Amino acid sequence: MSVQSINPASEEIIETFEAHNDVEIEHRLAAAAETFTHWRLTSLGKRAELLEAAASIMEEDRERLARHMTLEMGKPLSQALGEIDKCAWVCRHYAEHGEAYLADERIKTDASKAYVRHLPIGPVLAVMPWNFPFWQVFRFAAPALMAGNVGLLKHASNVWRCAIDIEEIFLKAGFPEGCFQTLLVGSEKVEGILRDKRVKAATLTGSGPAGGAVASTAGGEIKPSVLELGGTDAFIVMPSADLDSAVETAIDGRIQNSGQSCIAAKRFLVHADIYDEFRDKFIAGMQAITIGNPLEDGVKLGPLAMKAIRDDLQKQTRASIEAGAKPLLEPRSLPEKGWWFAPQILEDIPDMAPAAHEEMFGPVAGLWKVTSLTQAIERANRSDFGLGSAIFTQDEADIDIAIRDLEAGSTFVNAKVASDPRLPFGGIKQSGFGRELSRDGILAFVNRKTISIA
Ligand code: NDP
Repeated sequence: MSVQSINPASEEIIETFEAHNDVEIEHRLAAAAETFTHWRLTSLGKRAELLEAAASIMEEDRERLARHMTLEMGKPLSQALGEIDKCAWVCRHYAEHGEAYLADERIKTDASKAYVRHLPIGPVLAVMPWNFPFWQVFRFAAPALMAGNVGLLKHASNVWRCAIDIEEIFLKAGFPEGCFQTLLVGSEKVEGILRDKRVKAATLTGSGPAGGAVASTAGGEIKPSVLELGGTDAFIVMPSADLDSAVETAIDGRIQNSGQSCIAAKRFLVHADIYDEFRDKFIAGMQAITIGNPLEDGVKLGPLAMKAIRDDLQKQTRASIEAGAKPLLEPRSLPEKGWWFAPQILEDIPDMAPAAHEEMFGPVAGLWKVTSLTQAIERANRSDFGLGSAIFTQDEADIDIAIRDLEAGSTFVNAKVASDPRLPFGGIKQSGFGRELSRDGILAFVNRKTISIA
C-alpha cells in the first residue's frame, strides 16, 4: 500500500511512502521487545543524556523539521518552529526531572521498610494525530522513554514524513535501535498490533471514534490506555475582565494551529454587560487575521490539514447557519487550490445546531450572551466534552466558583488553555481519561510496584 503526503495549501503531492508490510511490522515488534530487555536496565542518567541529545538535535535542525510539518499539514511556519522548540523543552524537562518523578515513595507501615518503586512496563503503542505532528508524539515519548519503556508510533496517515523524522531524531540522539520506532501503517492495523502480547499499553490522541476503538481493544486485552480526545472548550468573560486582553487571547486561542486544536477555546460565553464591546472587538480582530501561504512570514492562518477536515467544518457551519445561527464575519477571498476556510464567528446558535455541541475543528467561534456566571457555567457544562476551560475575571469569588463547577480537566484564569511539560494535561467526559505531562505523564505507563520488607 502506498500513502501520499499532500500539501494542503496547494494540493500538490509532496511525497509517496510505502506502508510497512506484515513482515516489517513483525520485525519492528520483535525489535521493540528485544530492546526493552536491556533498555529497562539503563541508568536514569543515561536516559536523561539521550533525551538532552534529542533536544539539541531538534534545536539545530528546527528549520527543516518545522518546514516538513508545515508542508504536510499546513500550520504557519512560525508555529511549527515553536512546536519544535516545545518538543526540545519536553525532552529537557524529563531529562531534568525524570529521576525525581520516578523516585521511590516511602510509606510507613508495620514492616521494617515499605515503598513504591516505579518500573517500566515495555513497548507502548502511540496512535497519534496530525494537528501537532511533533508535539503530540514527544509529549508521550519523552516520559515513556525516560521511564524505561520503548515506543511504537502509529502516526496519522497524512504526516508520515514527520513520523520518519521523529524516529531519526531518536536514533541520531543515540537511543538504541528498537527504542523508538515508527510503524508506517493505516488505522486498520492498529487492533492487531495492540493485541500482540509484546505491546503492553496504548495511548491515543484524536477523535472519539478512534479513541473508543483503541480503548476497547486495550480493555479487552487488559492493557492500560490513555485517551486524549476532542474538546469544545468554554471561554467565559465576566464584566471585571481586562477586556482587551480577553479579546486578544480569544482570537489567538481560536485561530492557533488554524483552529485545529483540541484545547482551543471554541465556545465564547460573554457577560451581557460587556457583550457588545467584546463582540465588536472580536469581530474586528478575527476579520483582520492574515490568511495565506503558511510558509510566509506574518501569516496567522493557513489551510486546514485535509480536505475531509475542511469539508466537515463547512458542513457543520452551513448546518448551524441553516438552523438559525447568525454569521458575523464577511466572506474572504481564498486561494482556489488548497483546503482553505475563512474564519467565522456564529451568534444566536440554536442548541440543536452543530456549533452548539460538536467540536468545530477549525477557525469557527461560537458566541453566547450570558447574564450570570451560573448561566455561563451551566452552558459550558452542557457539552459532552470536558477538556479545558478558561475564565477572564478579576473577581476572586468568580474564580473559586469556576474552578469548582466547570466540568473540565483544567481551568485557566485570565489566560488561554495551553499544555506545559510541568502541568498535568488531559480531560474528563468524552475528552478522554488519563493524564499526560508532568509527574502524572511519566507515571501513566509504569508498574507502581509495592515493596514491603518484613
Ligand atoms: P482520527 O481520530 O481519525 O485520527 C487520529 C489517529 O487515530 C490517526 O493516527 C488515525 O490513523 C488513527 N485512527 C483513526 N481511526 C482509528 C481506529 N478505528 N483505530 C485505530 N486508530 C485509528 O482523527 P481525524 O484525523 O479523522 O480527525 C477527525 C476529528 O477528530 C477532527 O475533526 C477532530 O474533531 C478530532 N481530532 C482531535 C484531535 C485532538 O487533538 N484531540 C486530533 C485530531 C483529530 P489514520 O490517519 O491512518 O486514519
